[in-house]
Amino acid sequence: MTYDPENPQDFIDAEKIWNHIDAANNPAPDRVREVLAKAAEMKGLSLEEAAVLLACEDPRLDDEIFATAKRVKESIYGNRMVLFAPLYITNECSNCCSYCGFNATNKELTRRTLTMDEIKDEVRVLEDQGHKRLLLVYGEHPRFGAEWMKETVEAVYATQSEKSGEIRRVNINCAPLSVDGFKTLASAGIGTYQCFQETYHRETYAKVHLKGKKADFLWRLHAMHRAMAGGIDDVGMGALFGLFDHRFELLALLAHAQQLEADTGVGPHTISFPRIEPALGSEMSTNPPDVITDHRFKKIVAITRLAVPYTGLIMSTRENGELRRELMELGVSQMSAGSRTYPGAYSDPEYDRPEVQQFCLGDNRSLDEVIREMAENGFTPSWCTACYRKGRTGDHFMGLAKQGFIQEFCIPNALLTLREYLSDYASPETRAAGEALLAKSEETMAQRKCGKEFSKLLKRVTDGERDLY
Ligand code: SAM
Ligand code: SF4
Repeated sequence: MTYDPENPQDFIDAEKIWNHIDAANNPAPDRVREVLAKAAEMKGLSLEEAAVLLACEDPRLDDEIFATAKRVKESIYGNRMVLFAPLYITNECSNCCSYCGFNATNKELTRRTLTMDEIKDEVRVLEDQGHKRLLLVYGEHPRFGAEWMKETVEAVYATQSEKSGEIRRVNINCAPLSVDGFKTLASAGIGTYQCFQETYHRETYAKVHLKGKKADFLWRLHAMHRAMAGGIDDVGMGALFGLFDHRFELLALLAHAQQLEADTGVGPHTISFPRIEPALGSEMSTNPPDVITDHRFKKIVAITRLAVPYTGLIMSTRENGELRRELMELGVSQMSAGSRTYPGAYSDPEYDRPEVQQFCLGDNRSLDEVIREMAENGFTPSWCTACYRKGRTGDHFMGLAKQGFIQEFCIPNALLTLREYLSDYASPETRAAGEALLAKSEETMAQRKCGKEFSKLLKRVTDGERDLY
């Protein structure tokens, strides 16, 4: 299906989704276990099966859902966790999303759009912390088109810090563009294009998007299709949990992923789970319509891991450190760290100014602290961008992921990037924790097919070479 402006189709069949929700009500334990047995085969779940897991309210069965998600996560992704930082380019926005601090009607917010030089200053700070992957975030404003966004991406790639840091993959979170606009973005060499539908429930969508271009539900719904038509191979979707019934949102999100795969041959590269956080000037953000408890949130992540086992799942610093730890085990494969959510925040000496930021953060730790804790808990942080730079994107990446590629290639590559991080950026405490993890991992790698090649590459990185994979 392509986006036809004359006749845009709504491929989210709300009636079918409600039927699944109603039919799944209070499922028998045997049915839940049957679905979990299928999920354990890592072939994904249908909407009907995902609805059964969502409807389960028995705490013992919930534990079984979590245990199955953990097993699937471990066998596909191992202990690796991809890290990135968001970089806010502009908080100017002409839309009126009632949950967001950047809302055009919010007069308390100080508006700022970074110049190309200011972008470079921010990038240098992030590079000096050890970041290699950034997610650029933009408000939507008629003054900022695809050409300007392309320039901002190019400014990021062109910036090298004194410590020879470099950004190797730039992902984008911006409002939907036309196919031509996406072609322009693609020509800047972006990685993933990310855009969240916020809510798949049309009446709720209309209520929370009062004005501006974002009020057009179908324009947004077809954004991923247009991005792929514009030559962007990796796209990321999501819903803003809290706006409407989480069961409807999750099933609709999975239906969106299925539709994209049916139409283009490849599903989303990533799925994100923003959960509403208090935002300046937004009353509804402090009292969201659907209450997403931590337990519910964990179930949403675990069920998604089982439903789309080969799709990357992203968690932001909206959530606190303790919950993020649990979510890592349940299915998350990428997370942001050391994040700041307003333009200019990384080079702001008076950081933590609520009058400019998008929403409150749950995890304010630095990248170094996050890495230390991950290493202590046996997780391997990864800044690897090899697939993207070798052209292994879209369906090509998905095919490889399904053949156990992540274990054989992504894990050793992750360890090489960890070696770089420990040598170039880590504090003494983090270096000690990371070295212990590396030493242990080297023993495991020695048993693998790629063991010899890995130890040669590791030695070269230890001796000072960079960006090997
Ligand atoms: N302006 C673009 C758009 O709306 O697609 C991209 C940037 S917007 C800042 C990125 C995402 O932030 C939105 O898609 C929304 O899901 C999320 N967001 C907005 N307000 C939020 C809040 N109060 N808490 C958590 N996430 C929020
Ligand atoms: Fe603007 Fe995006 Fe915030 Fe809506 S969510 S107000 S479009 S920045």
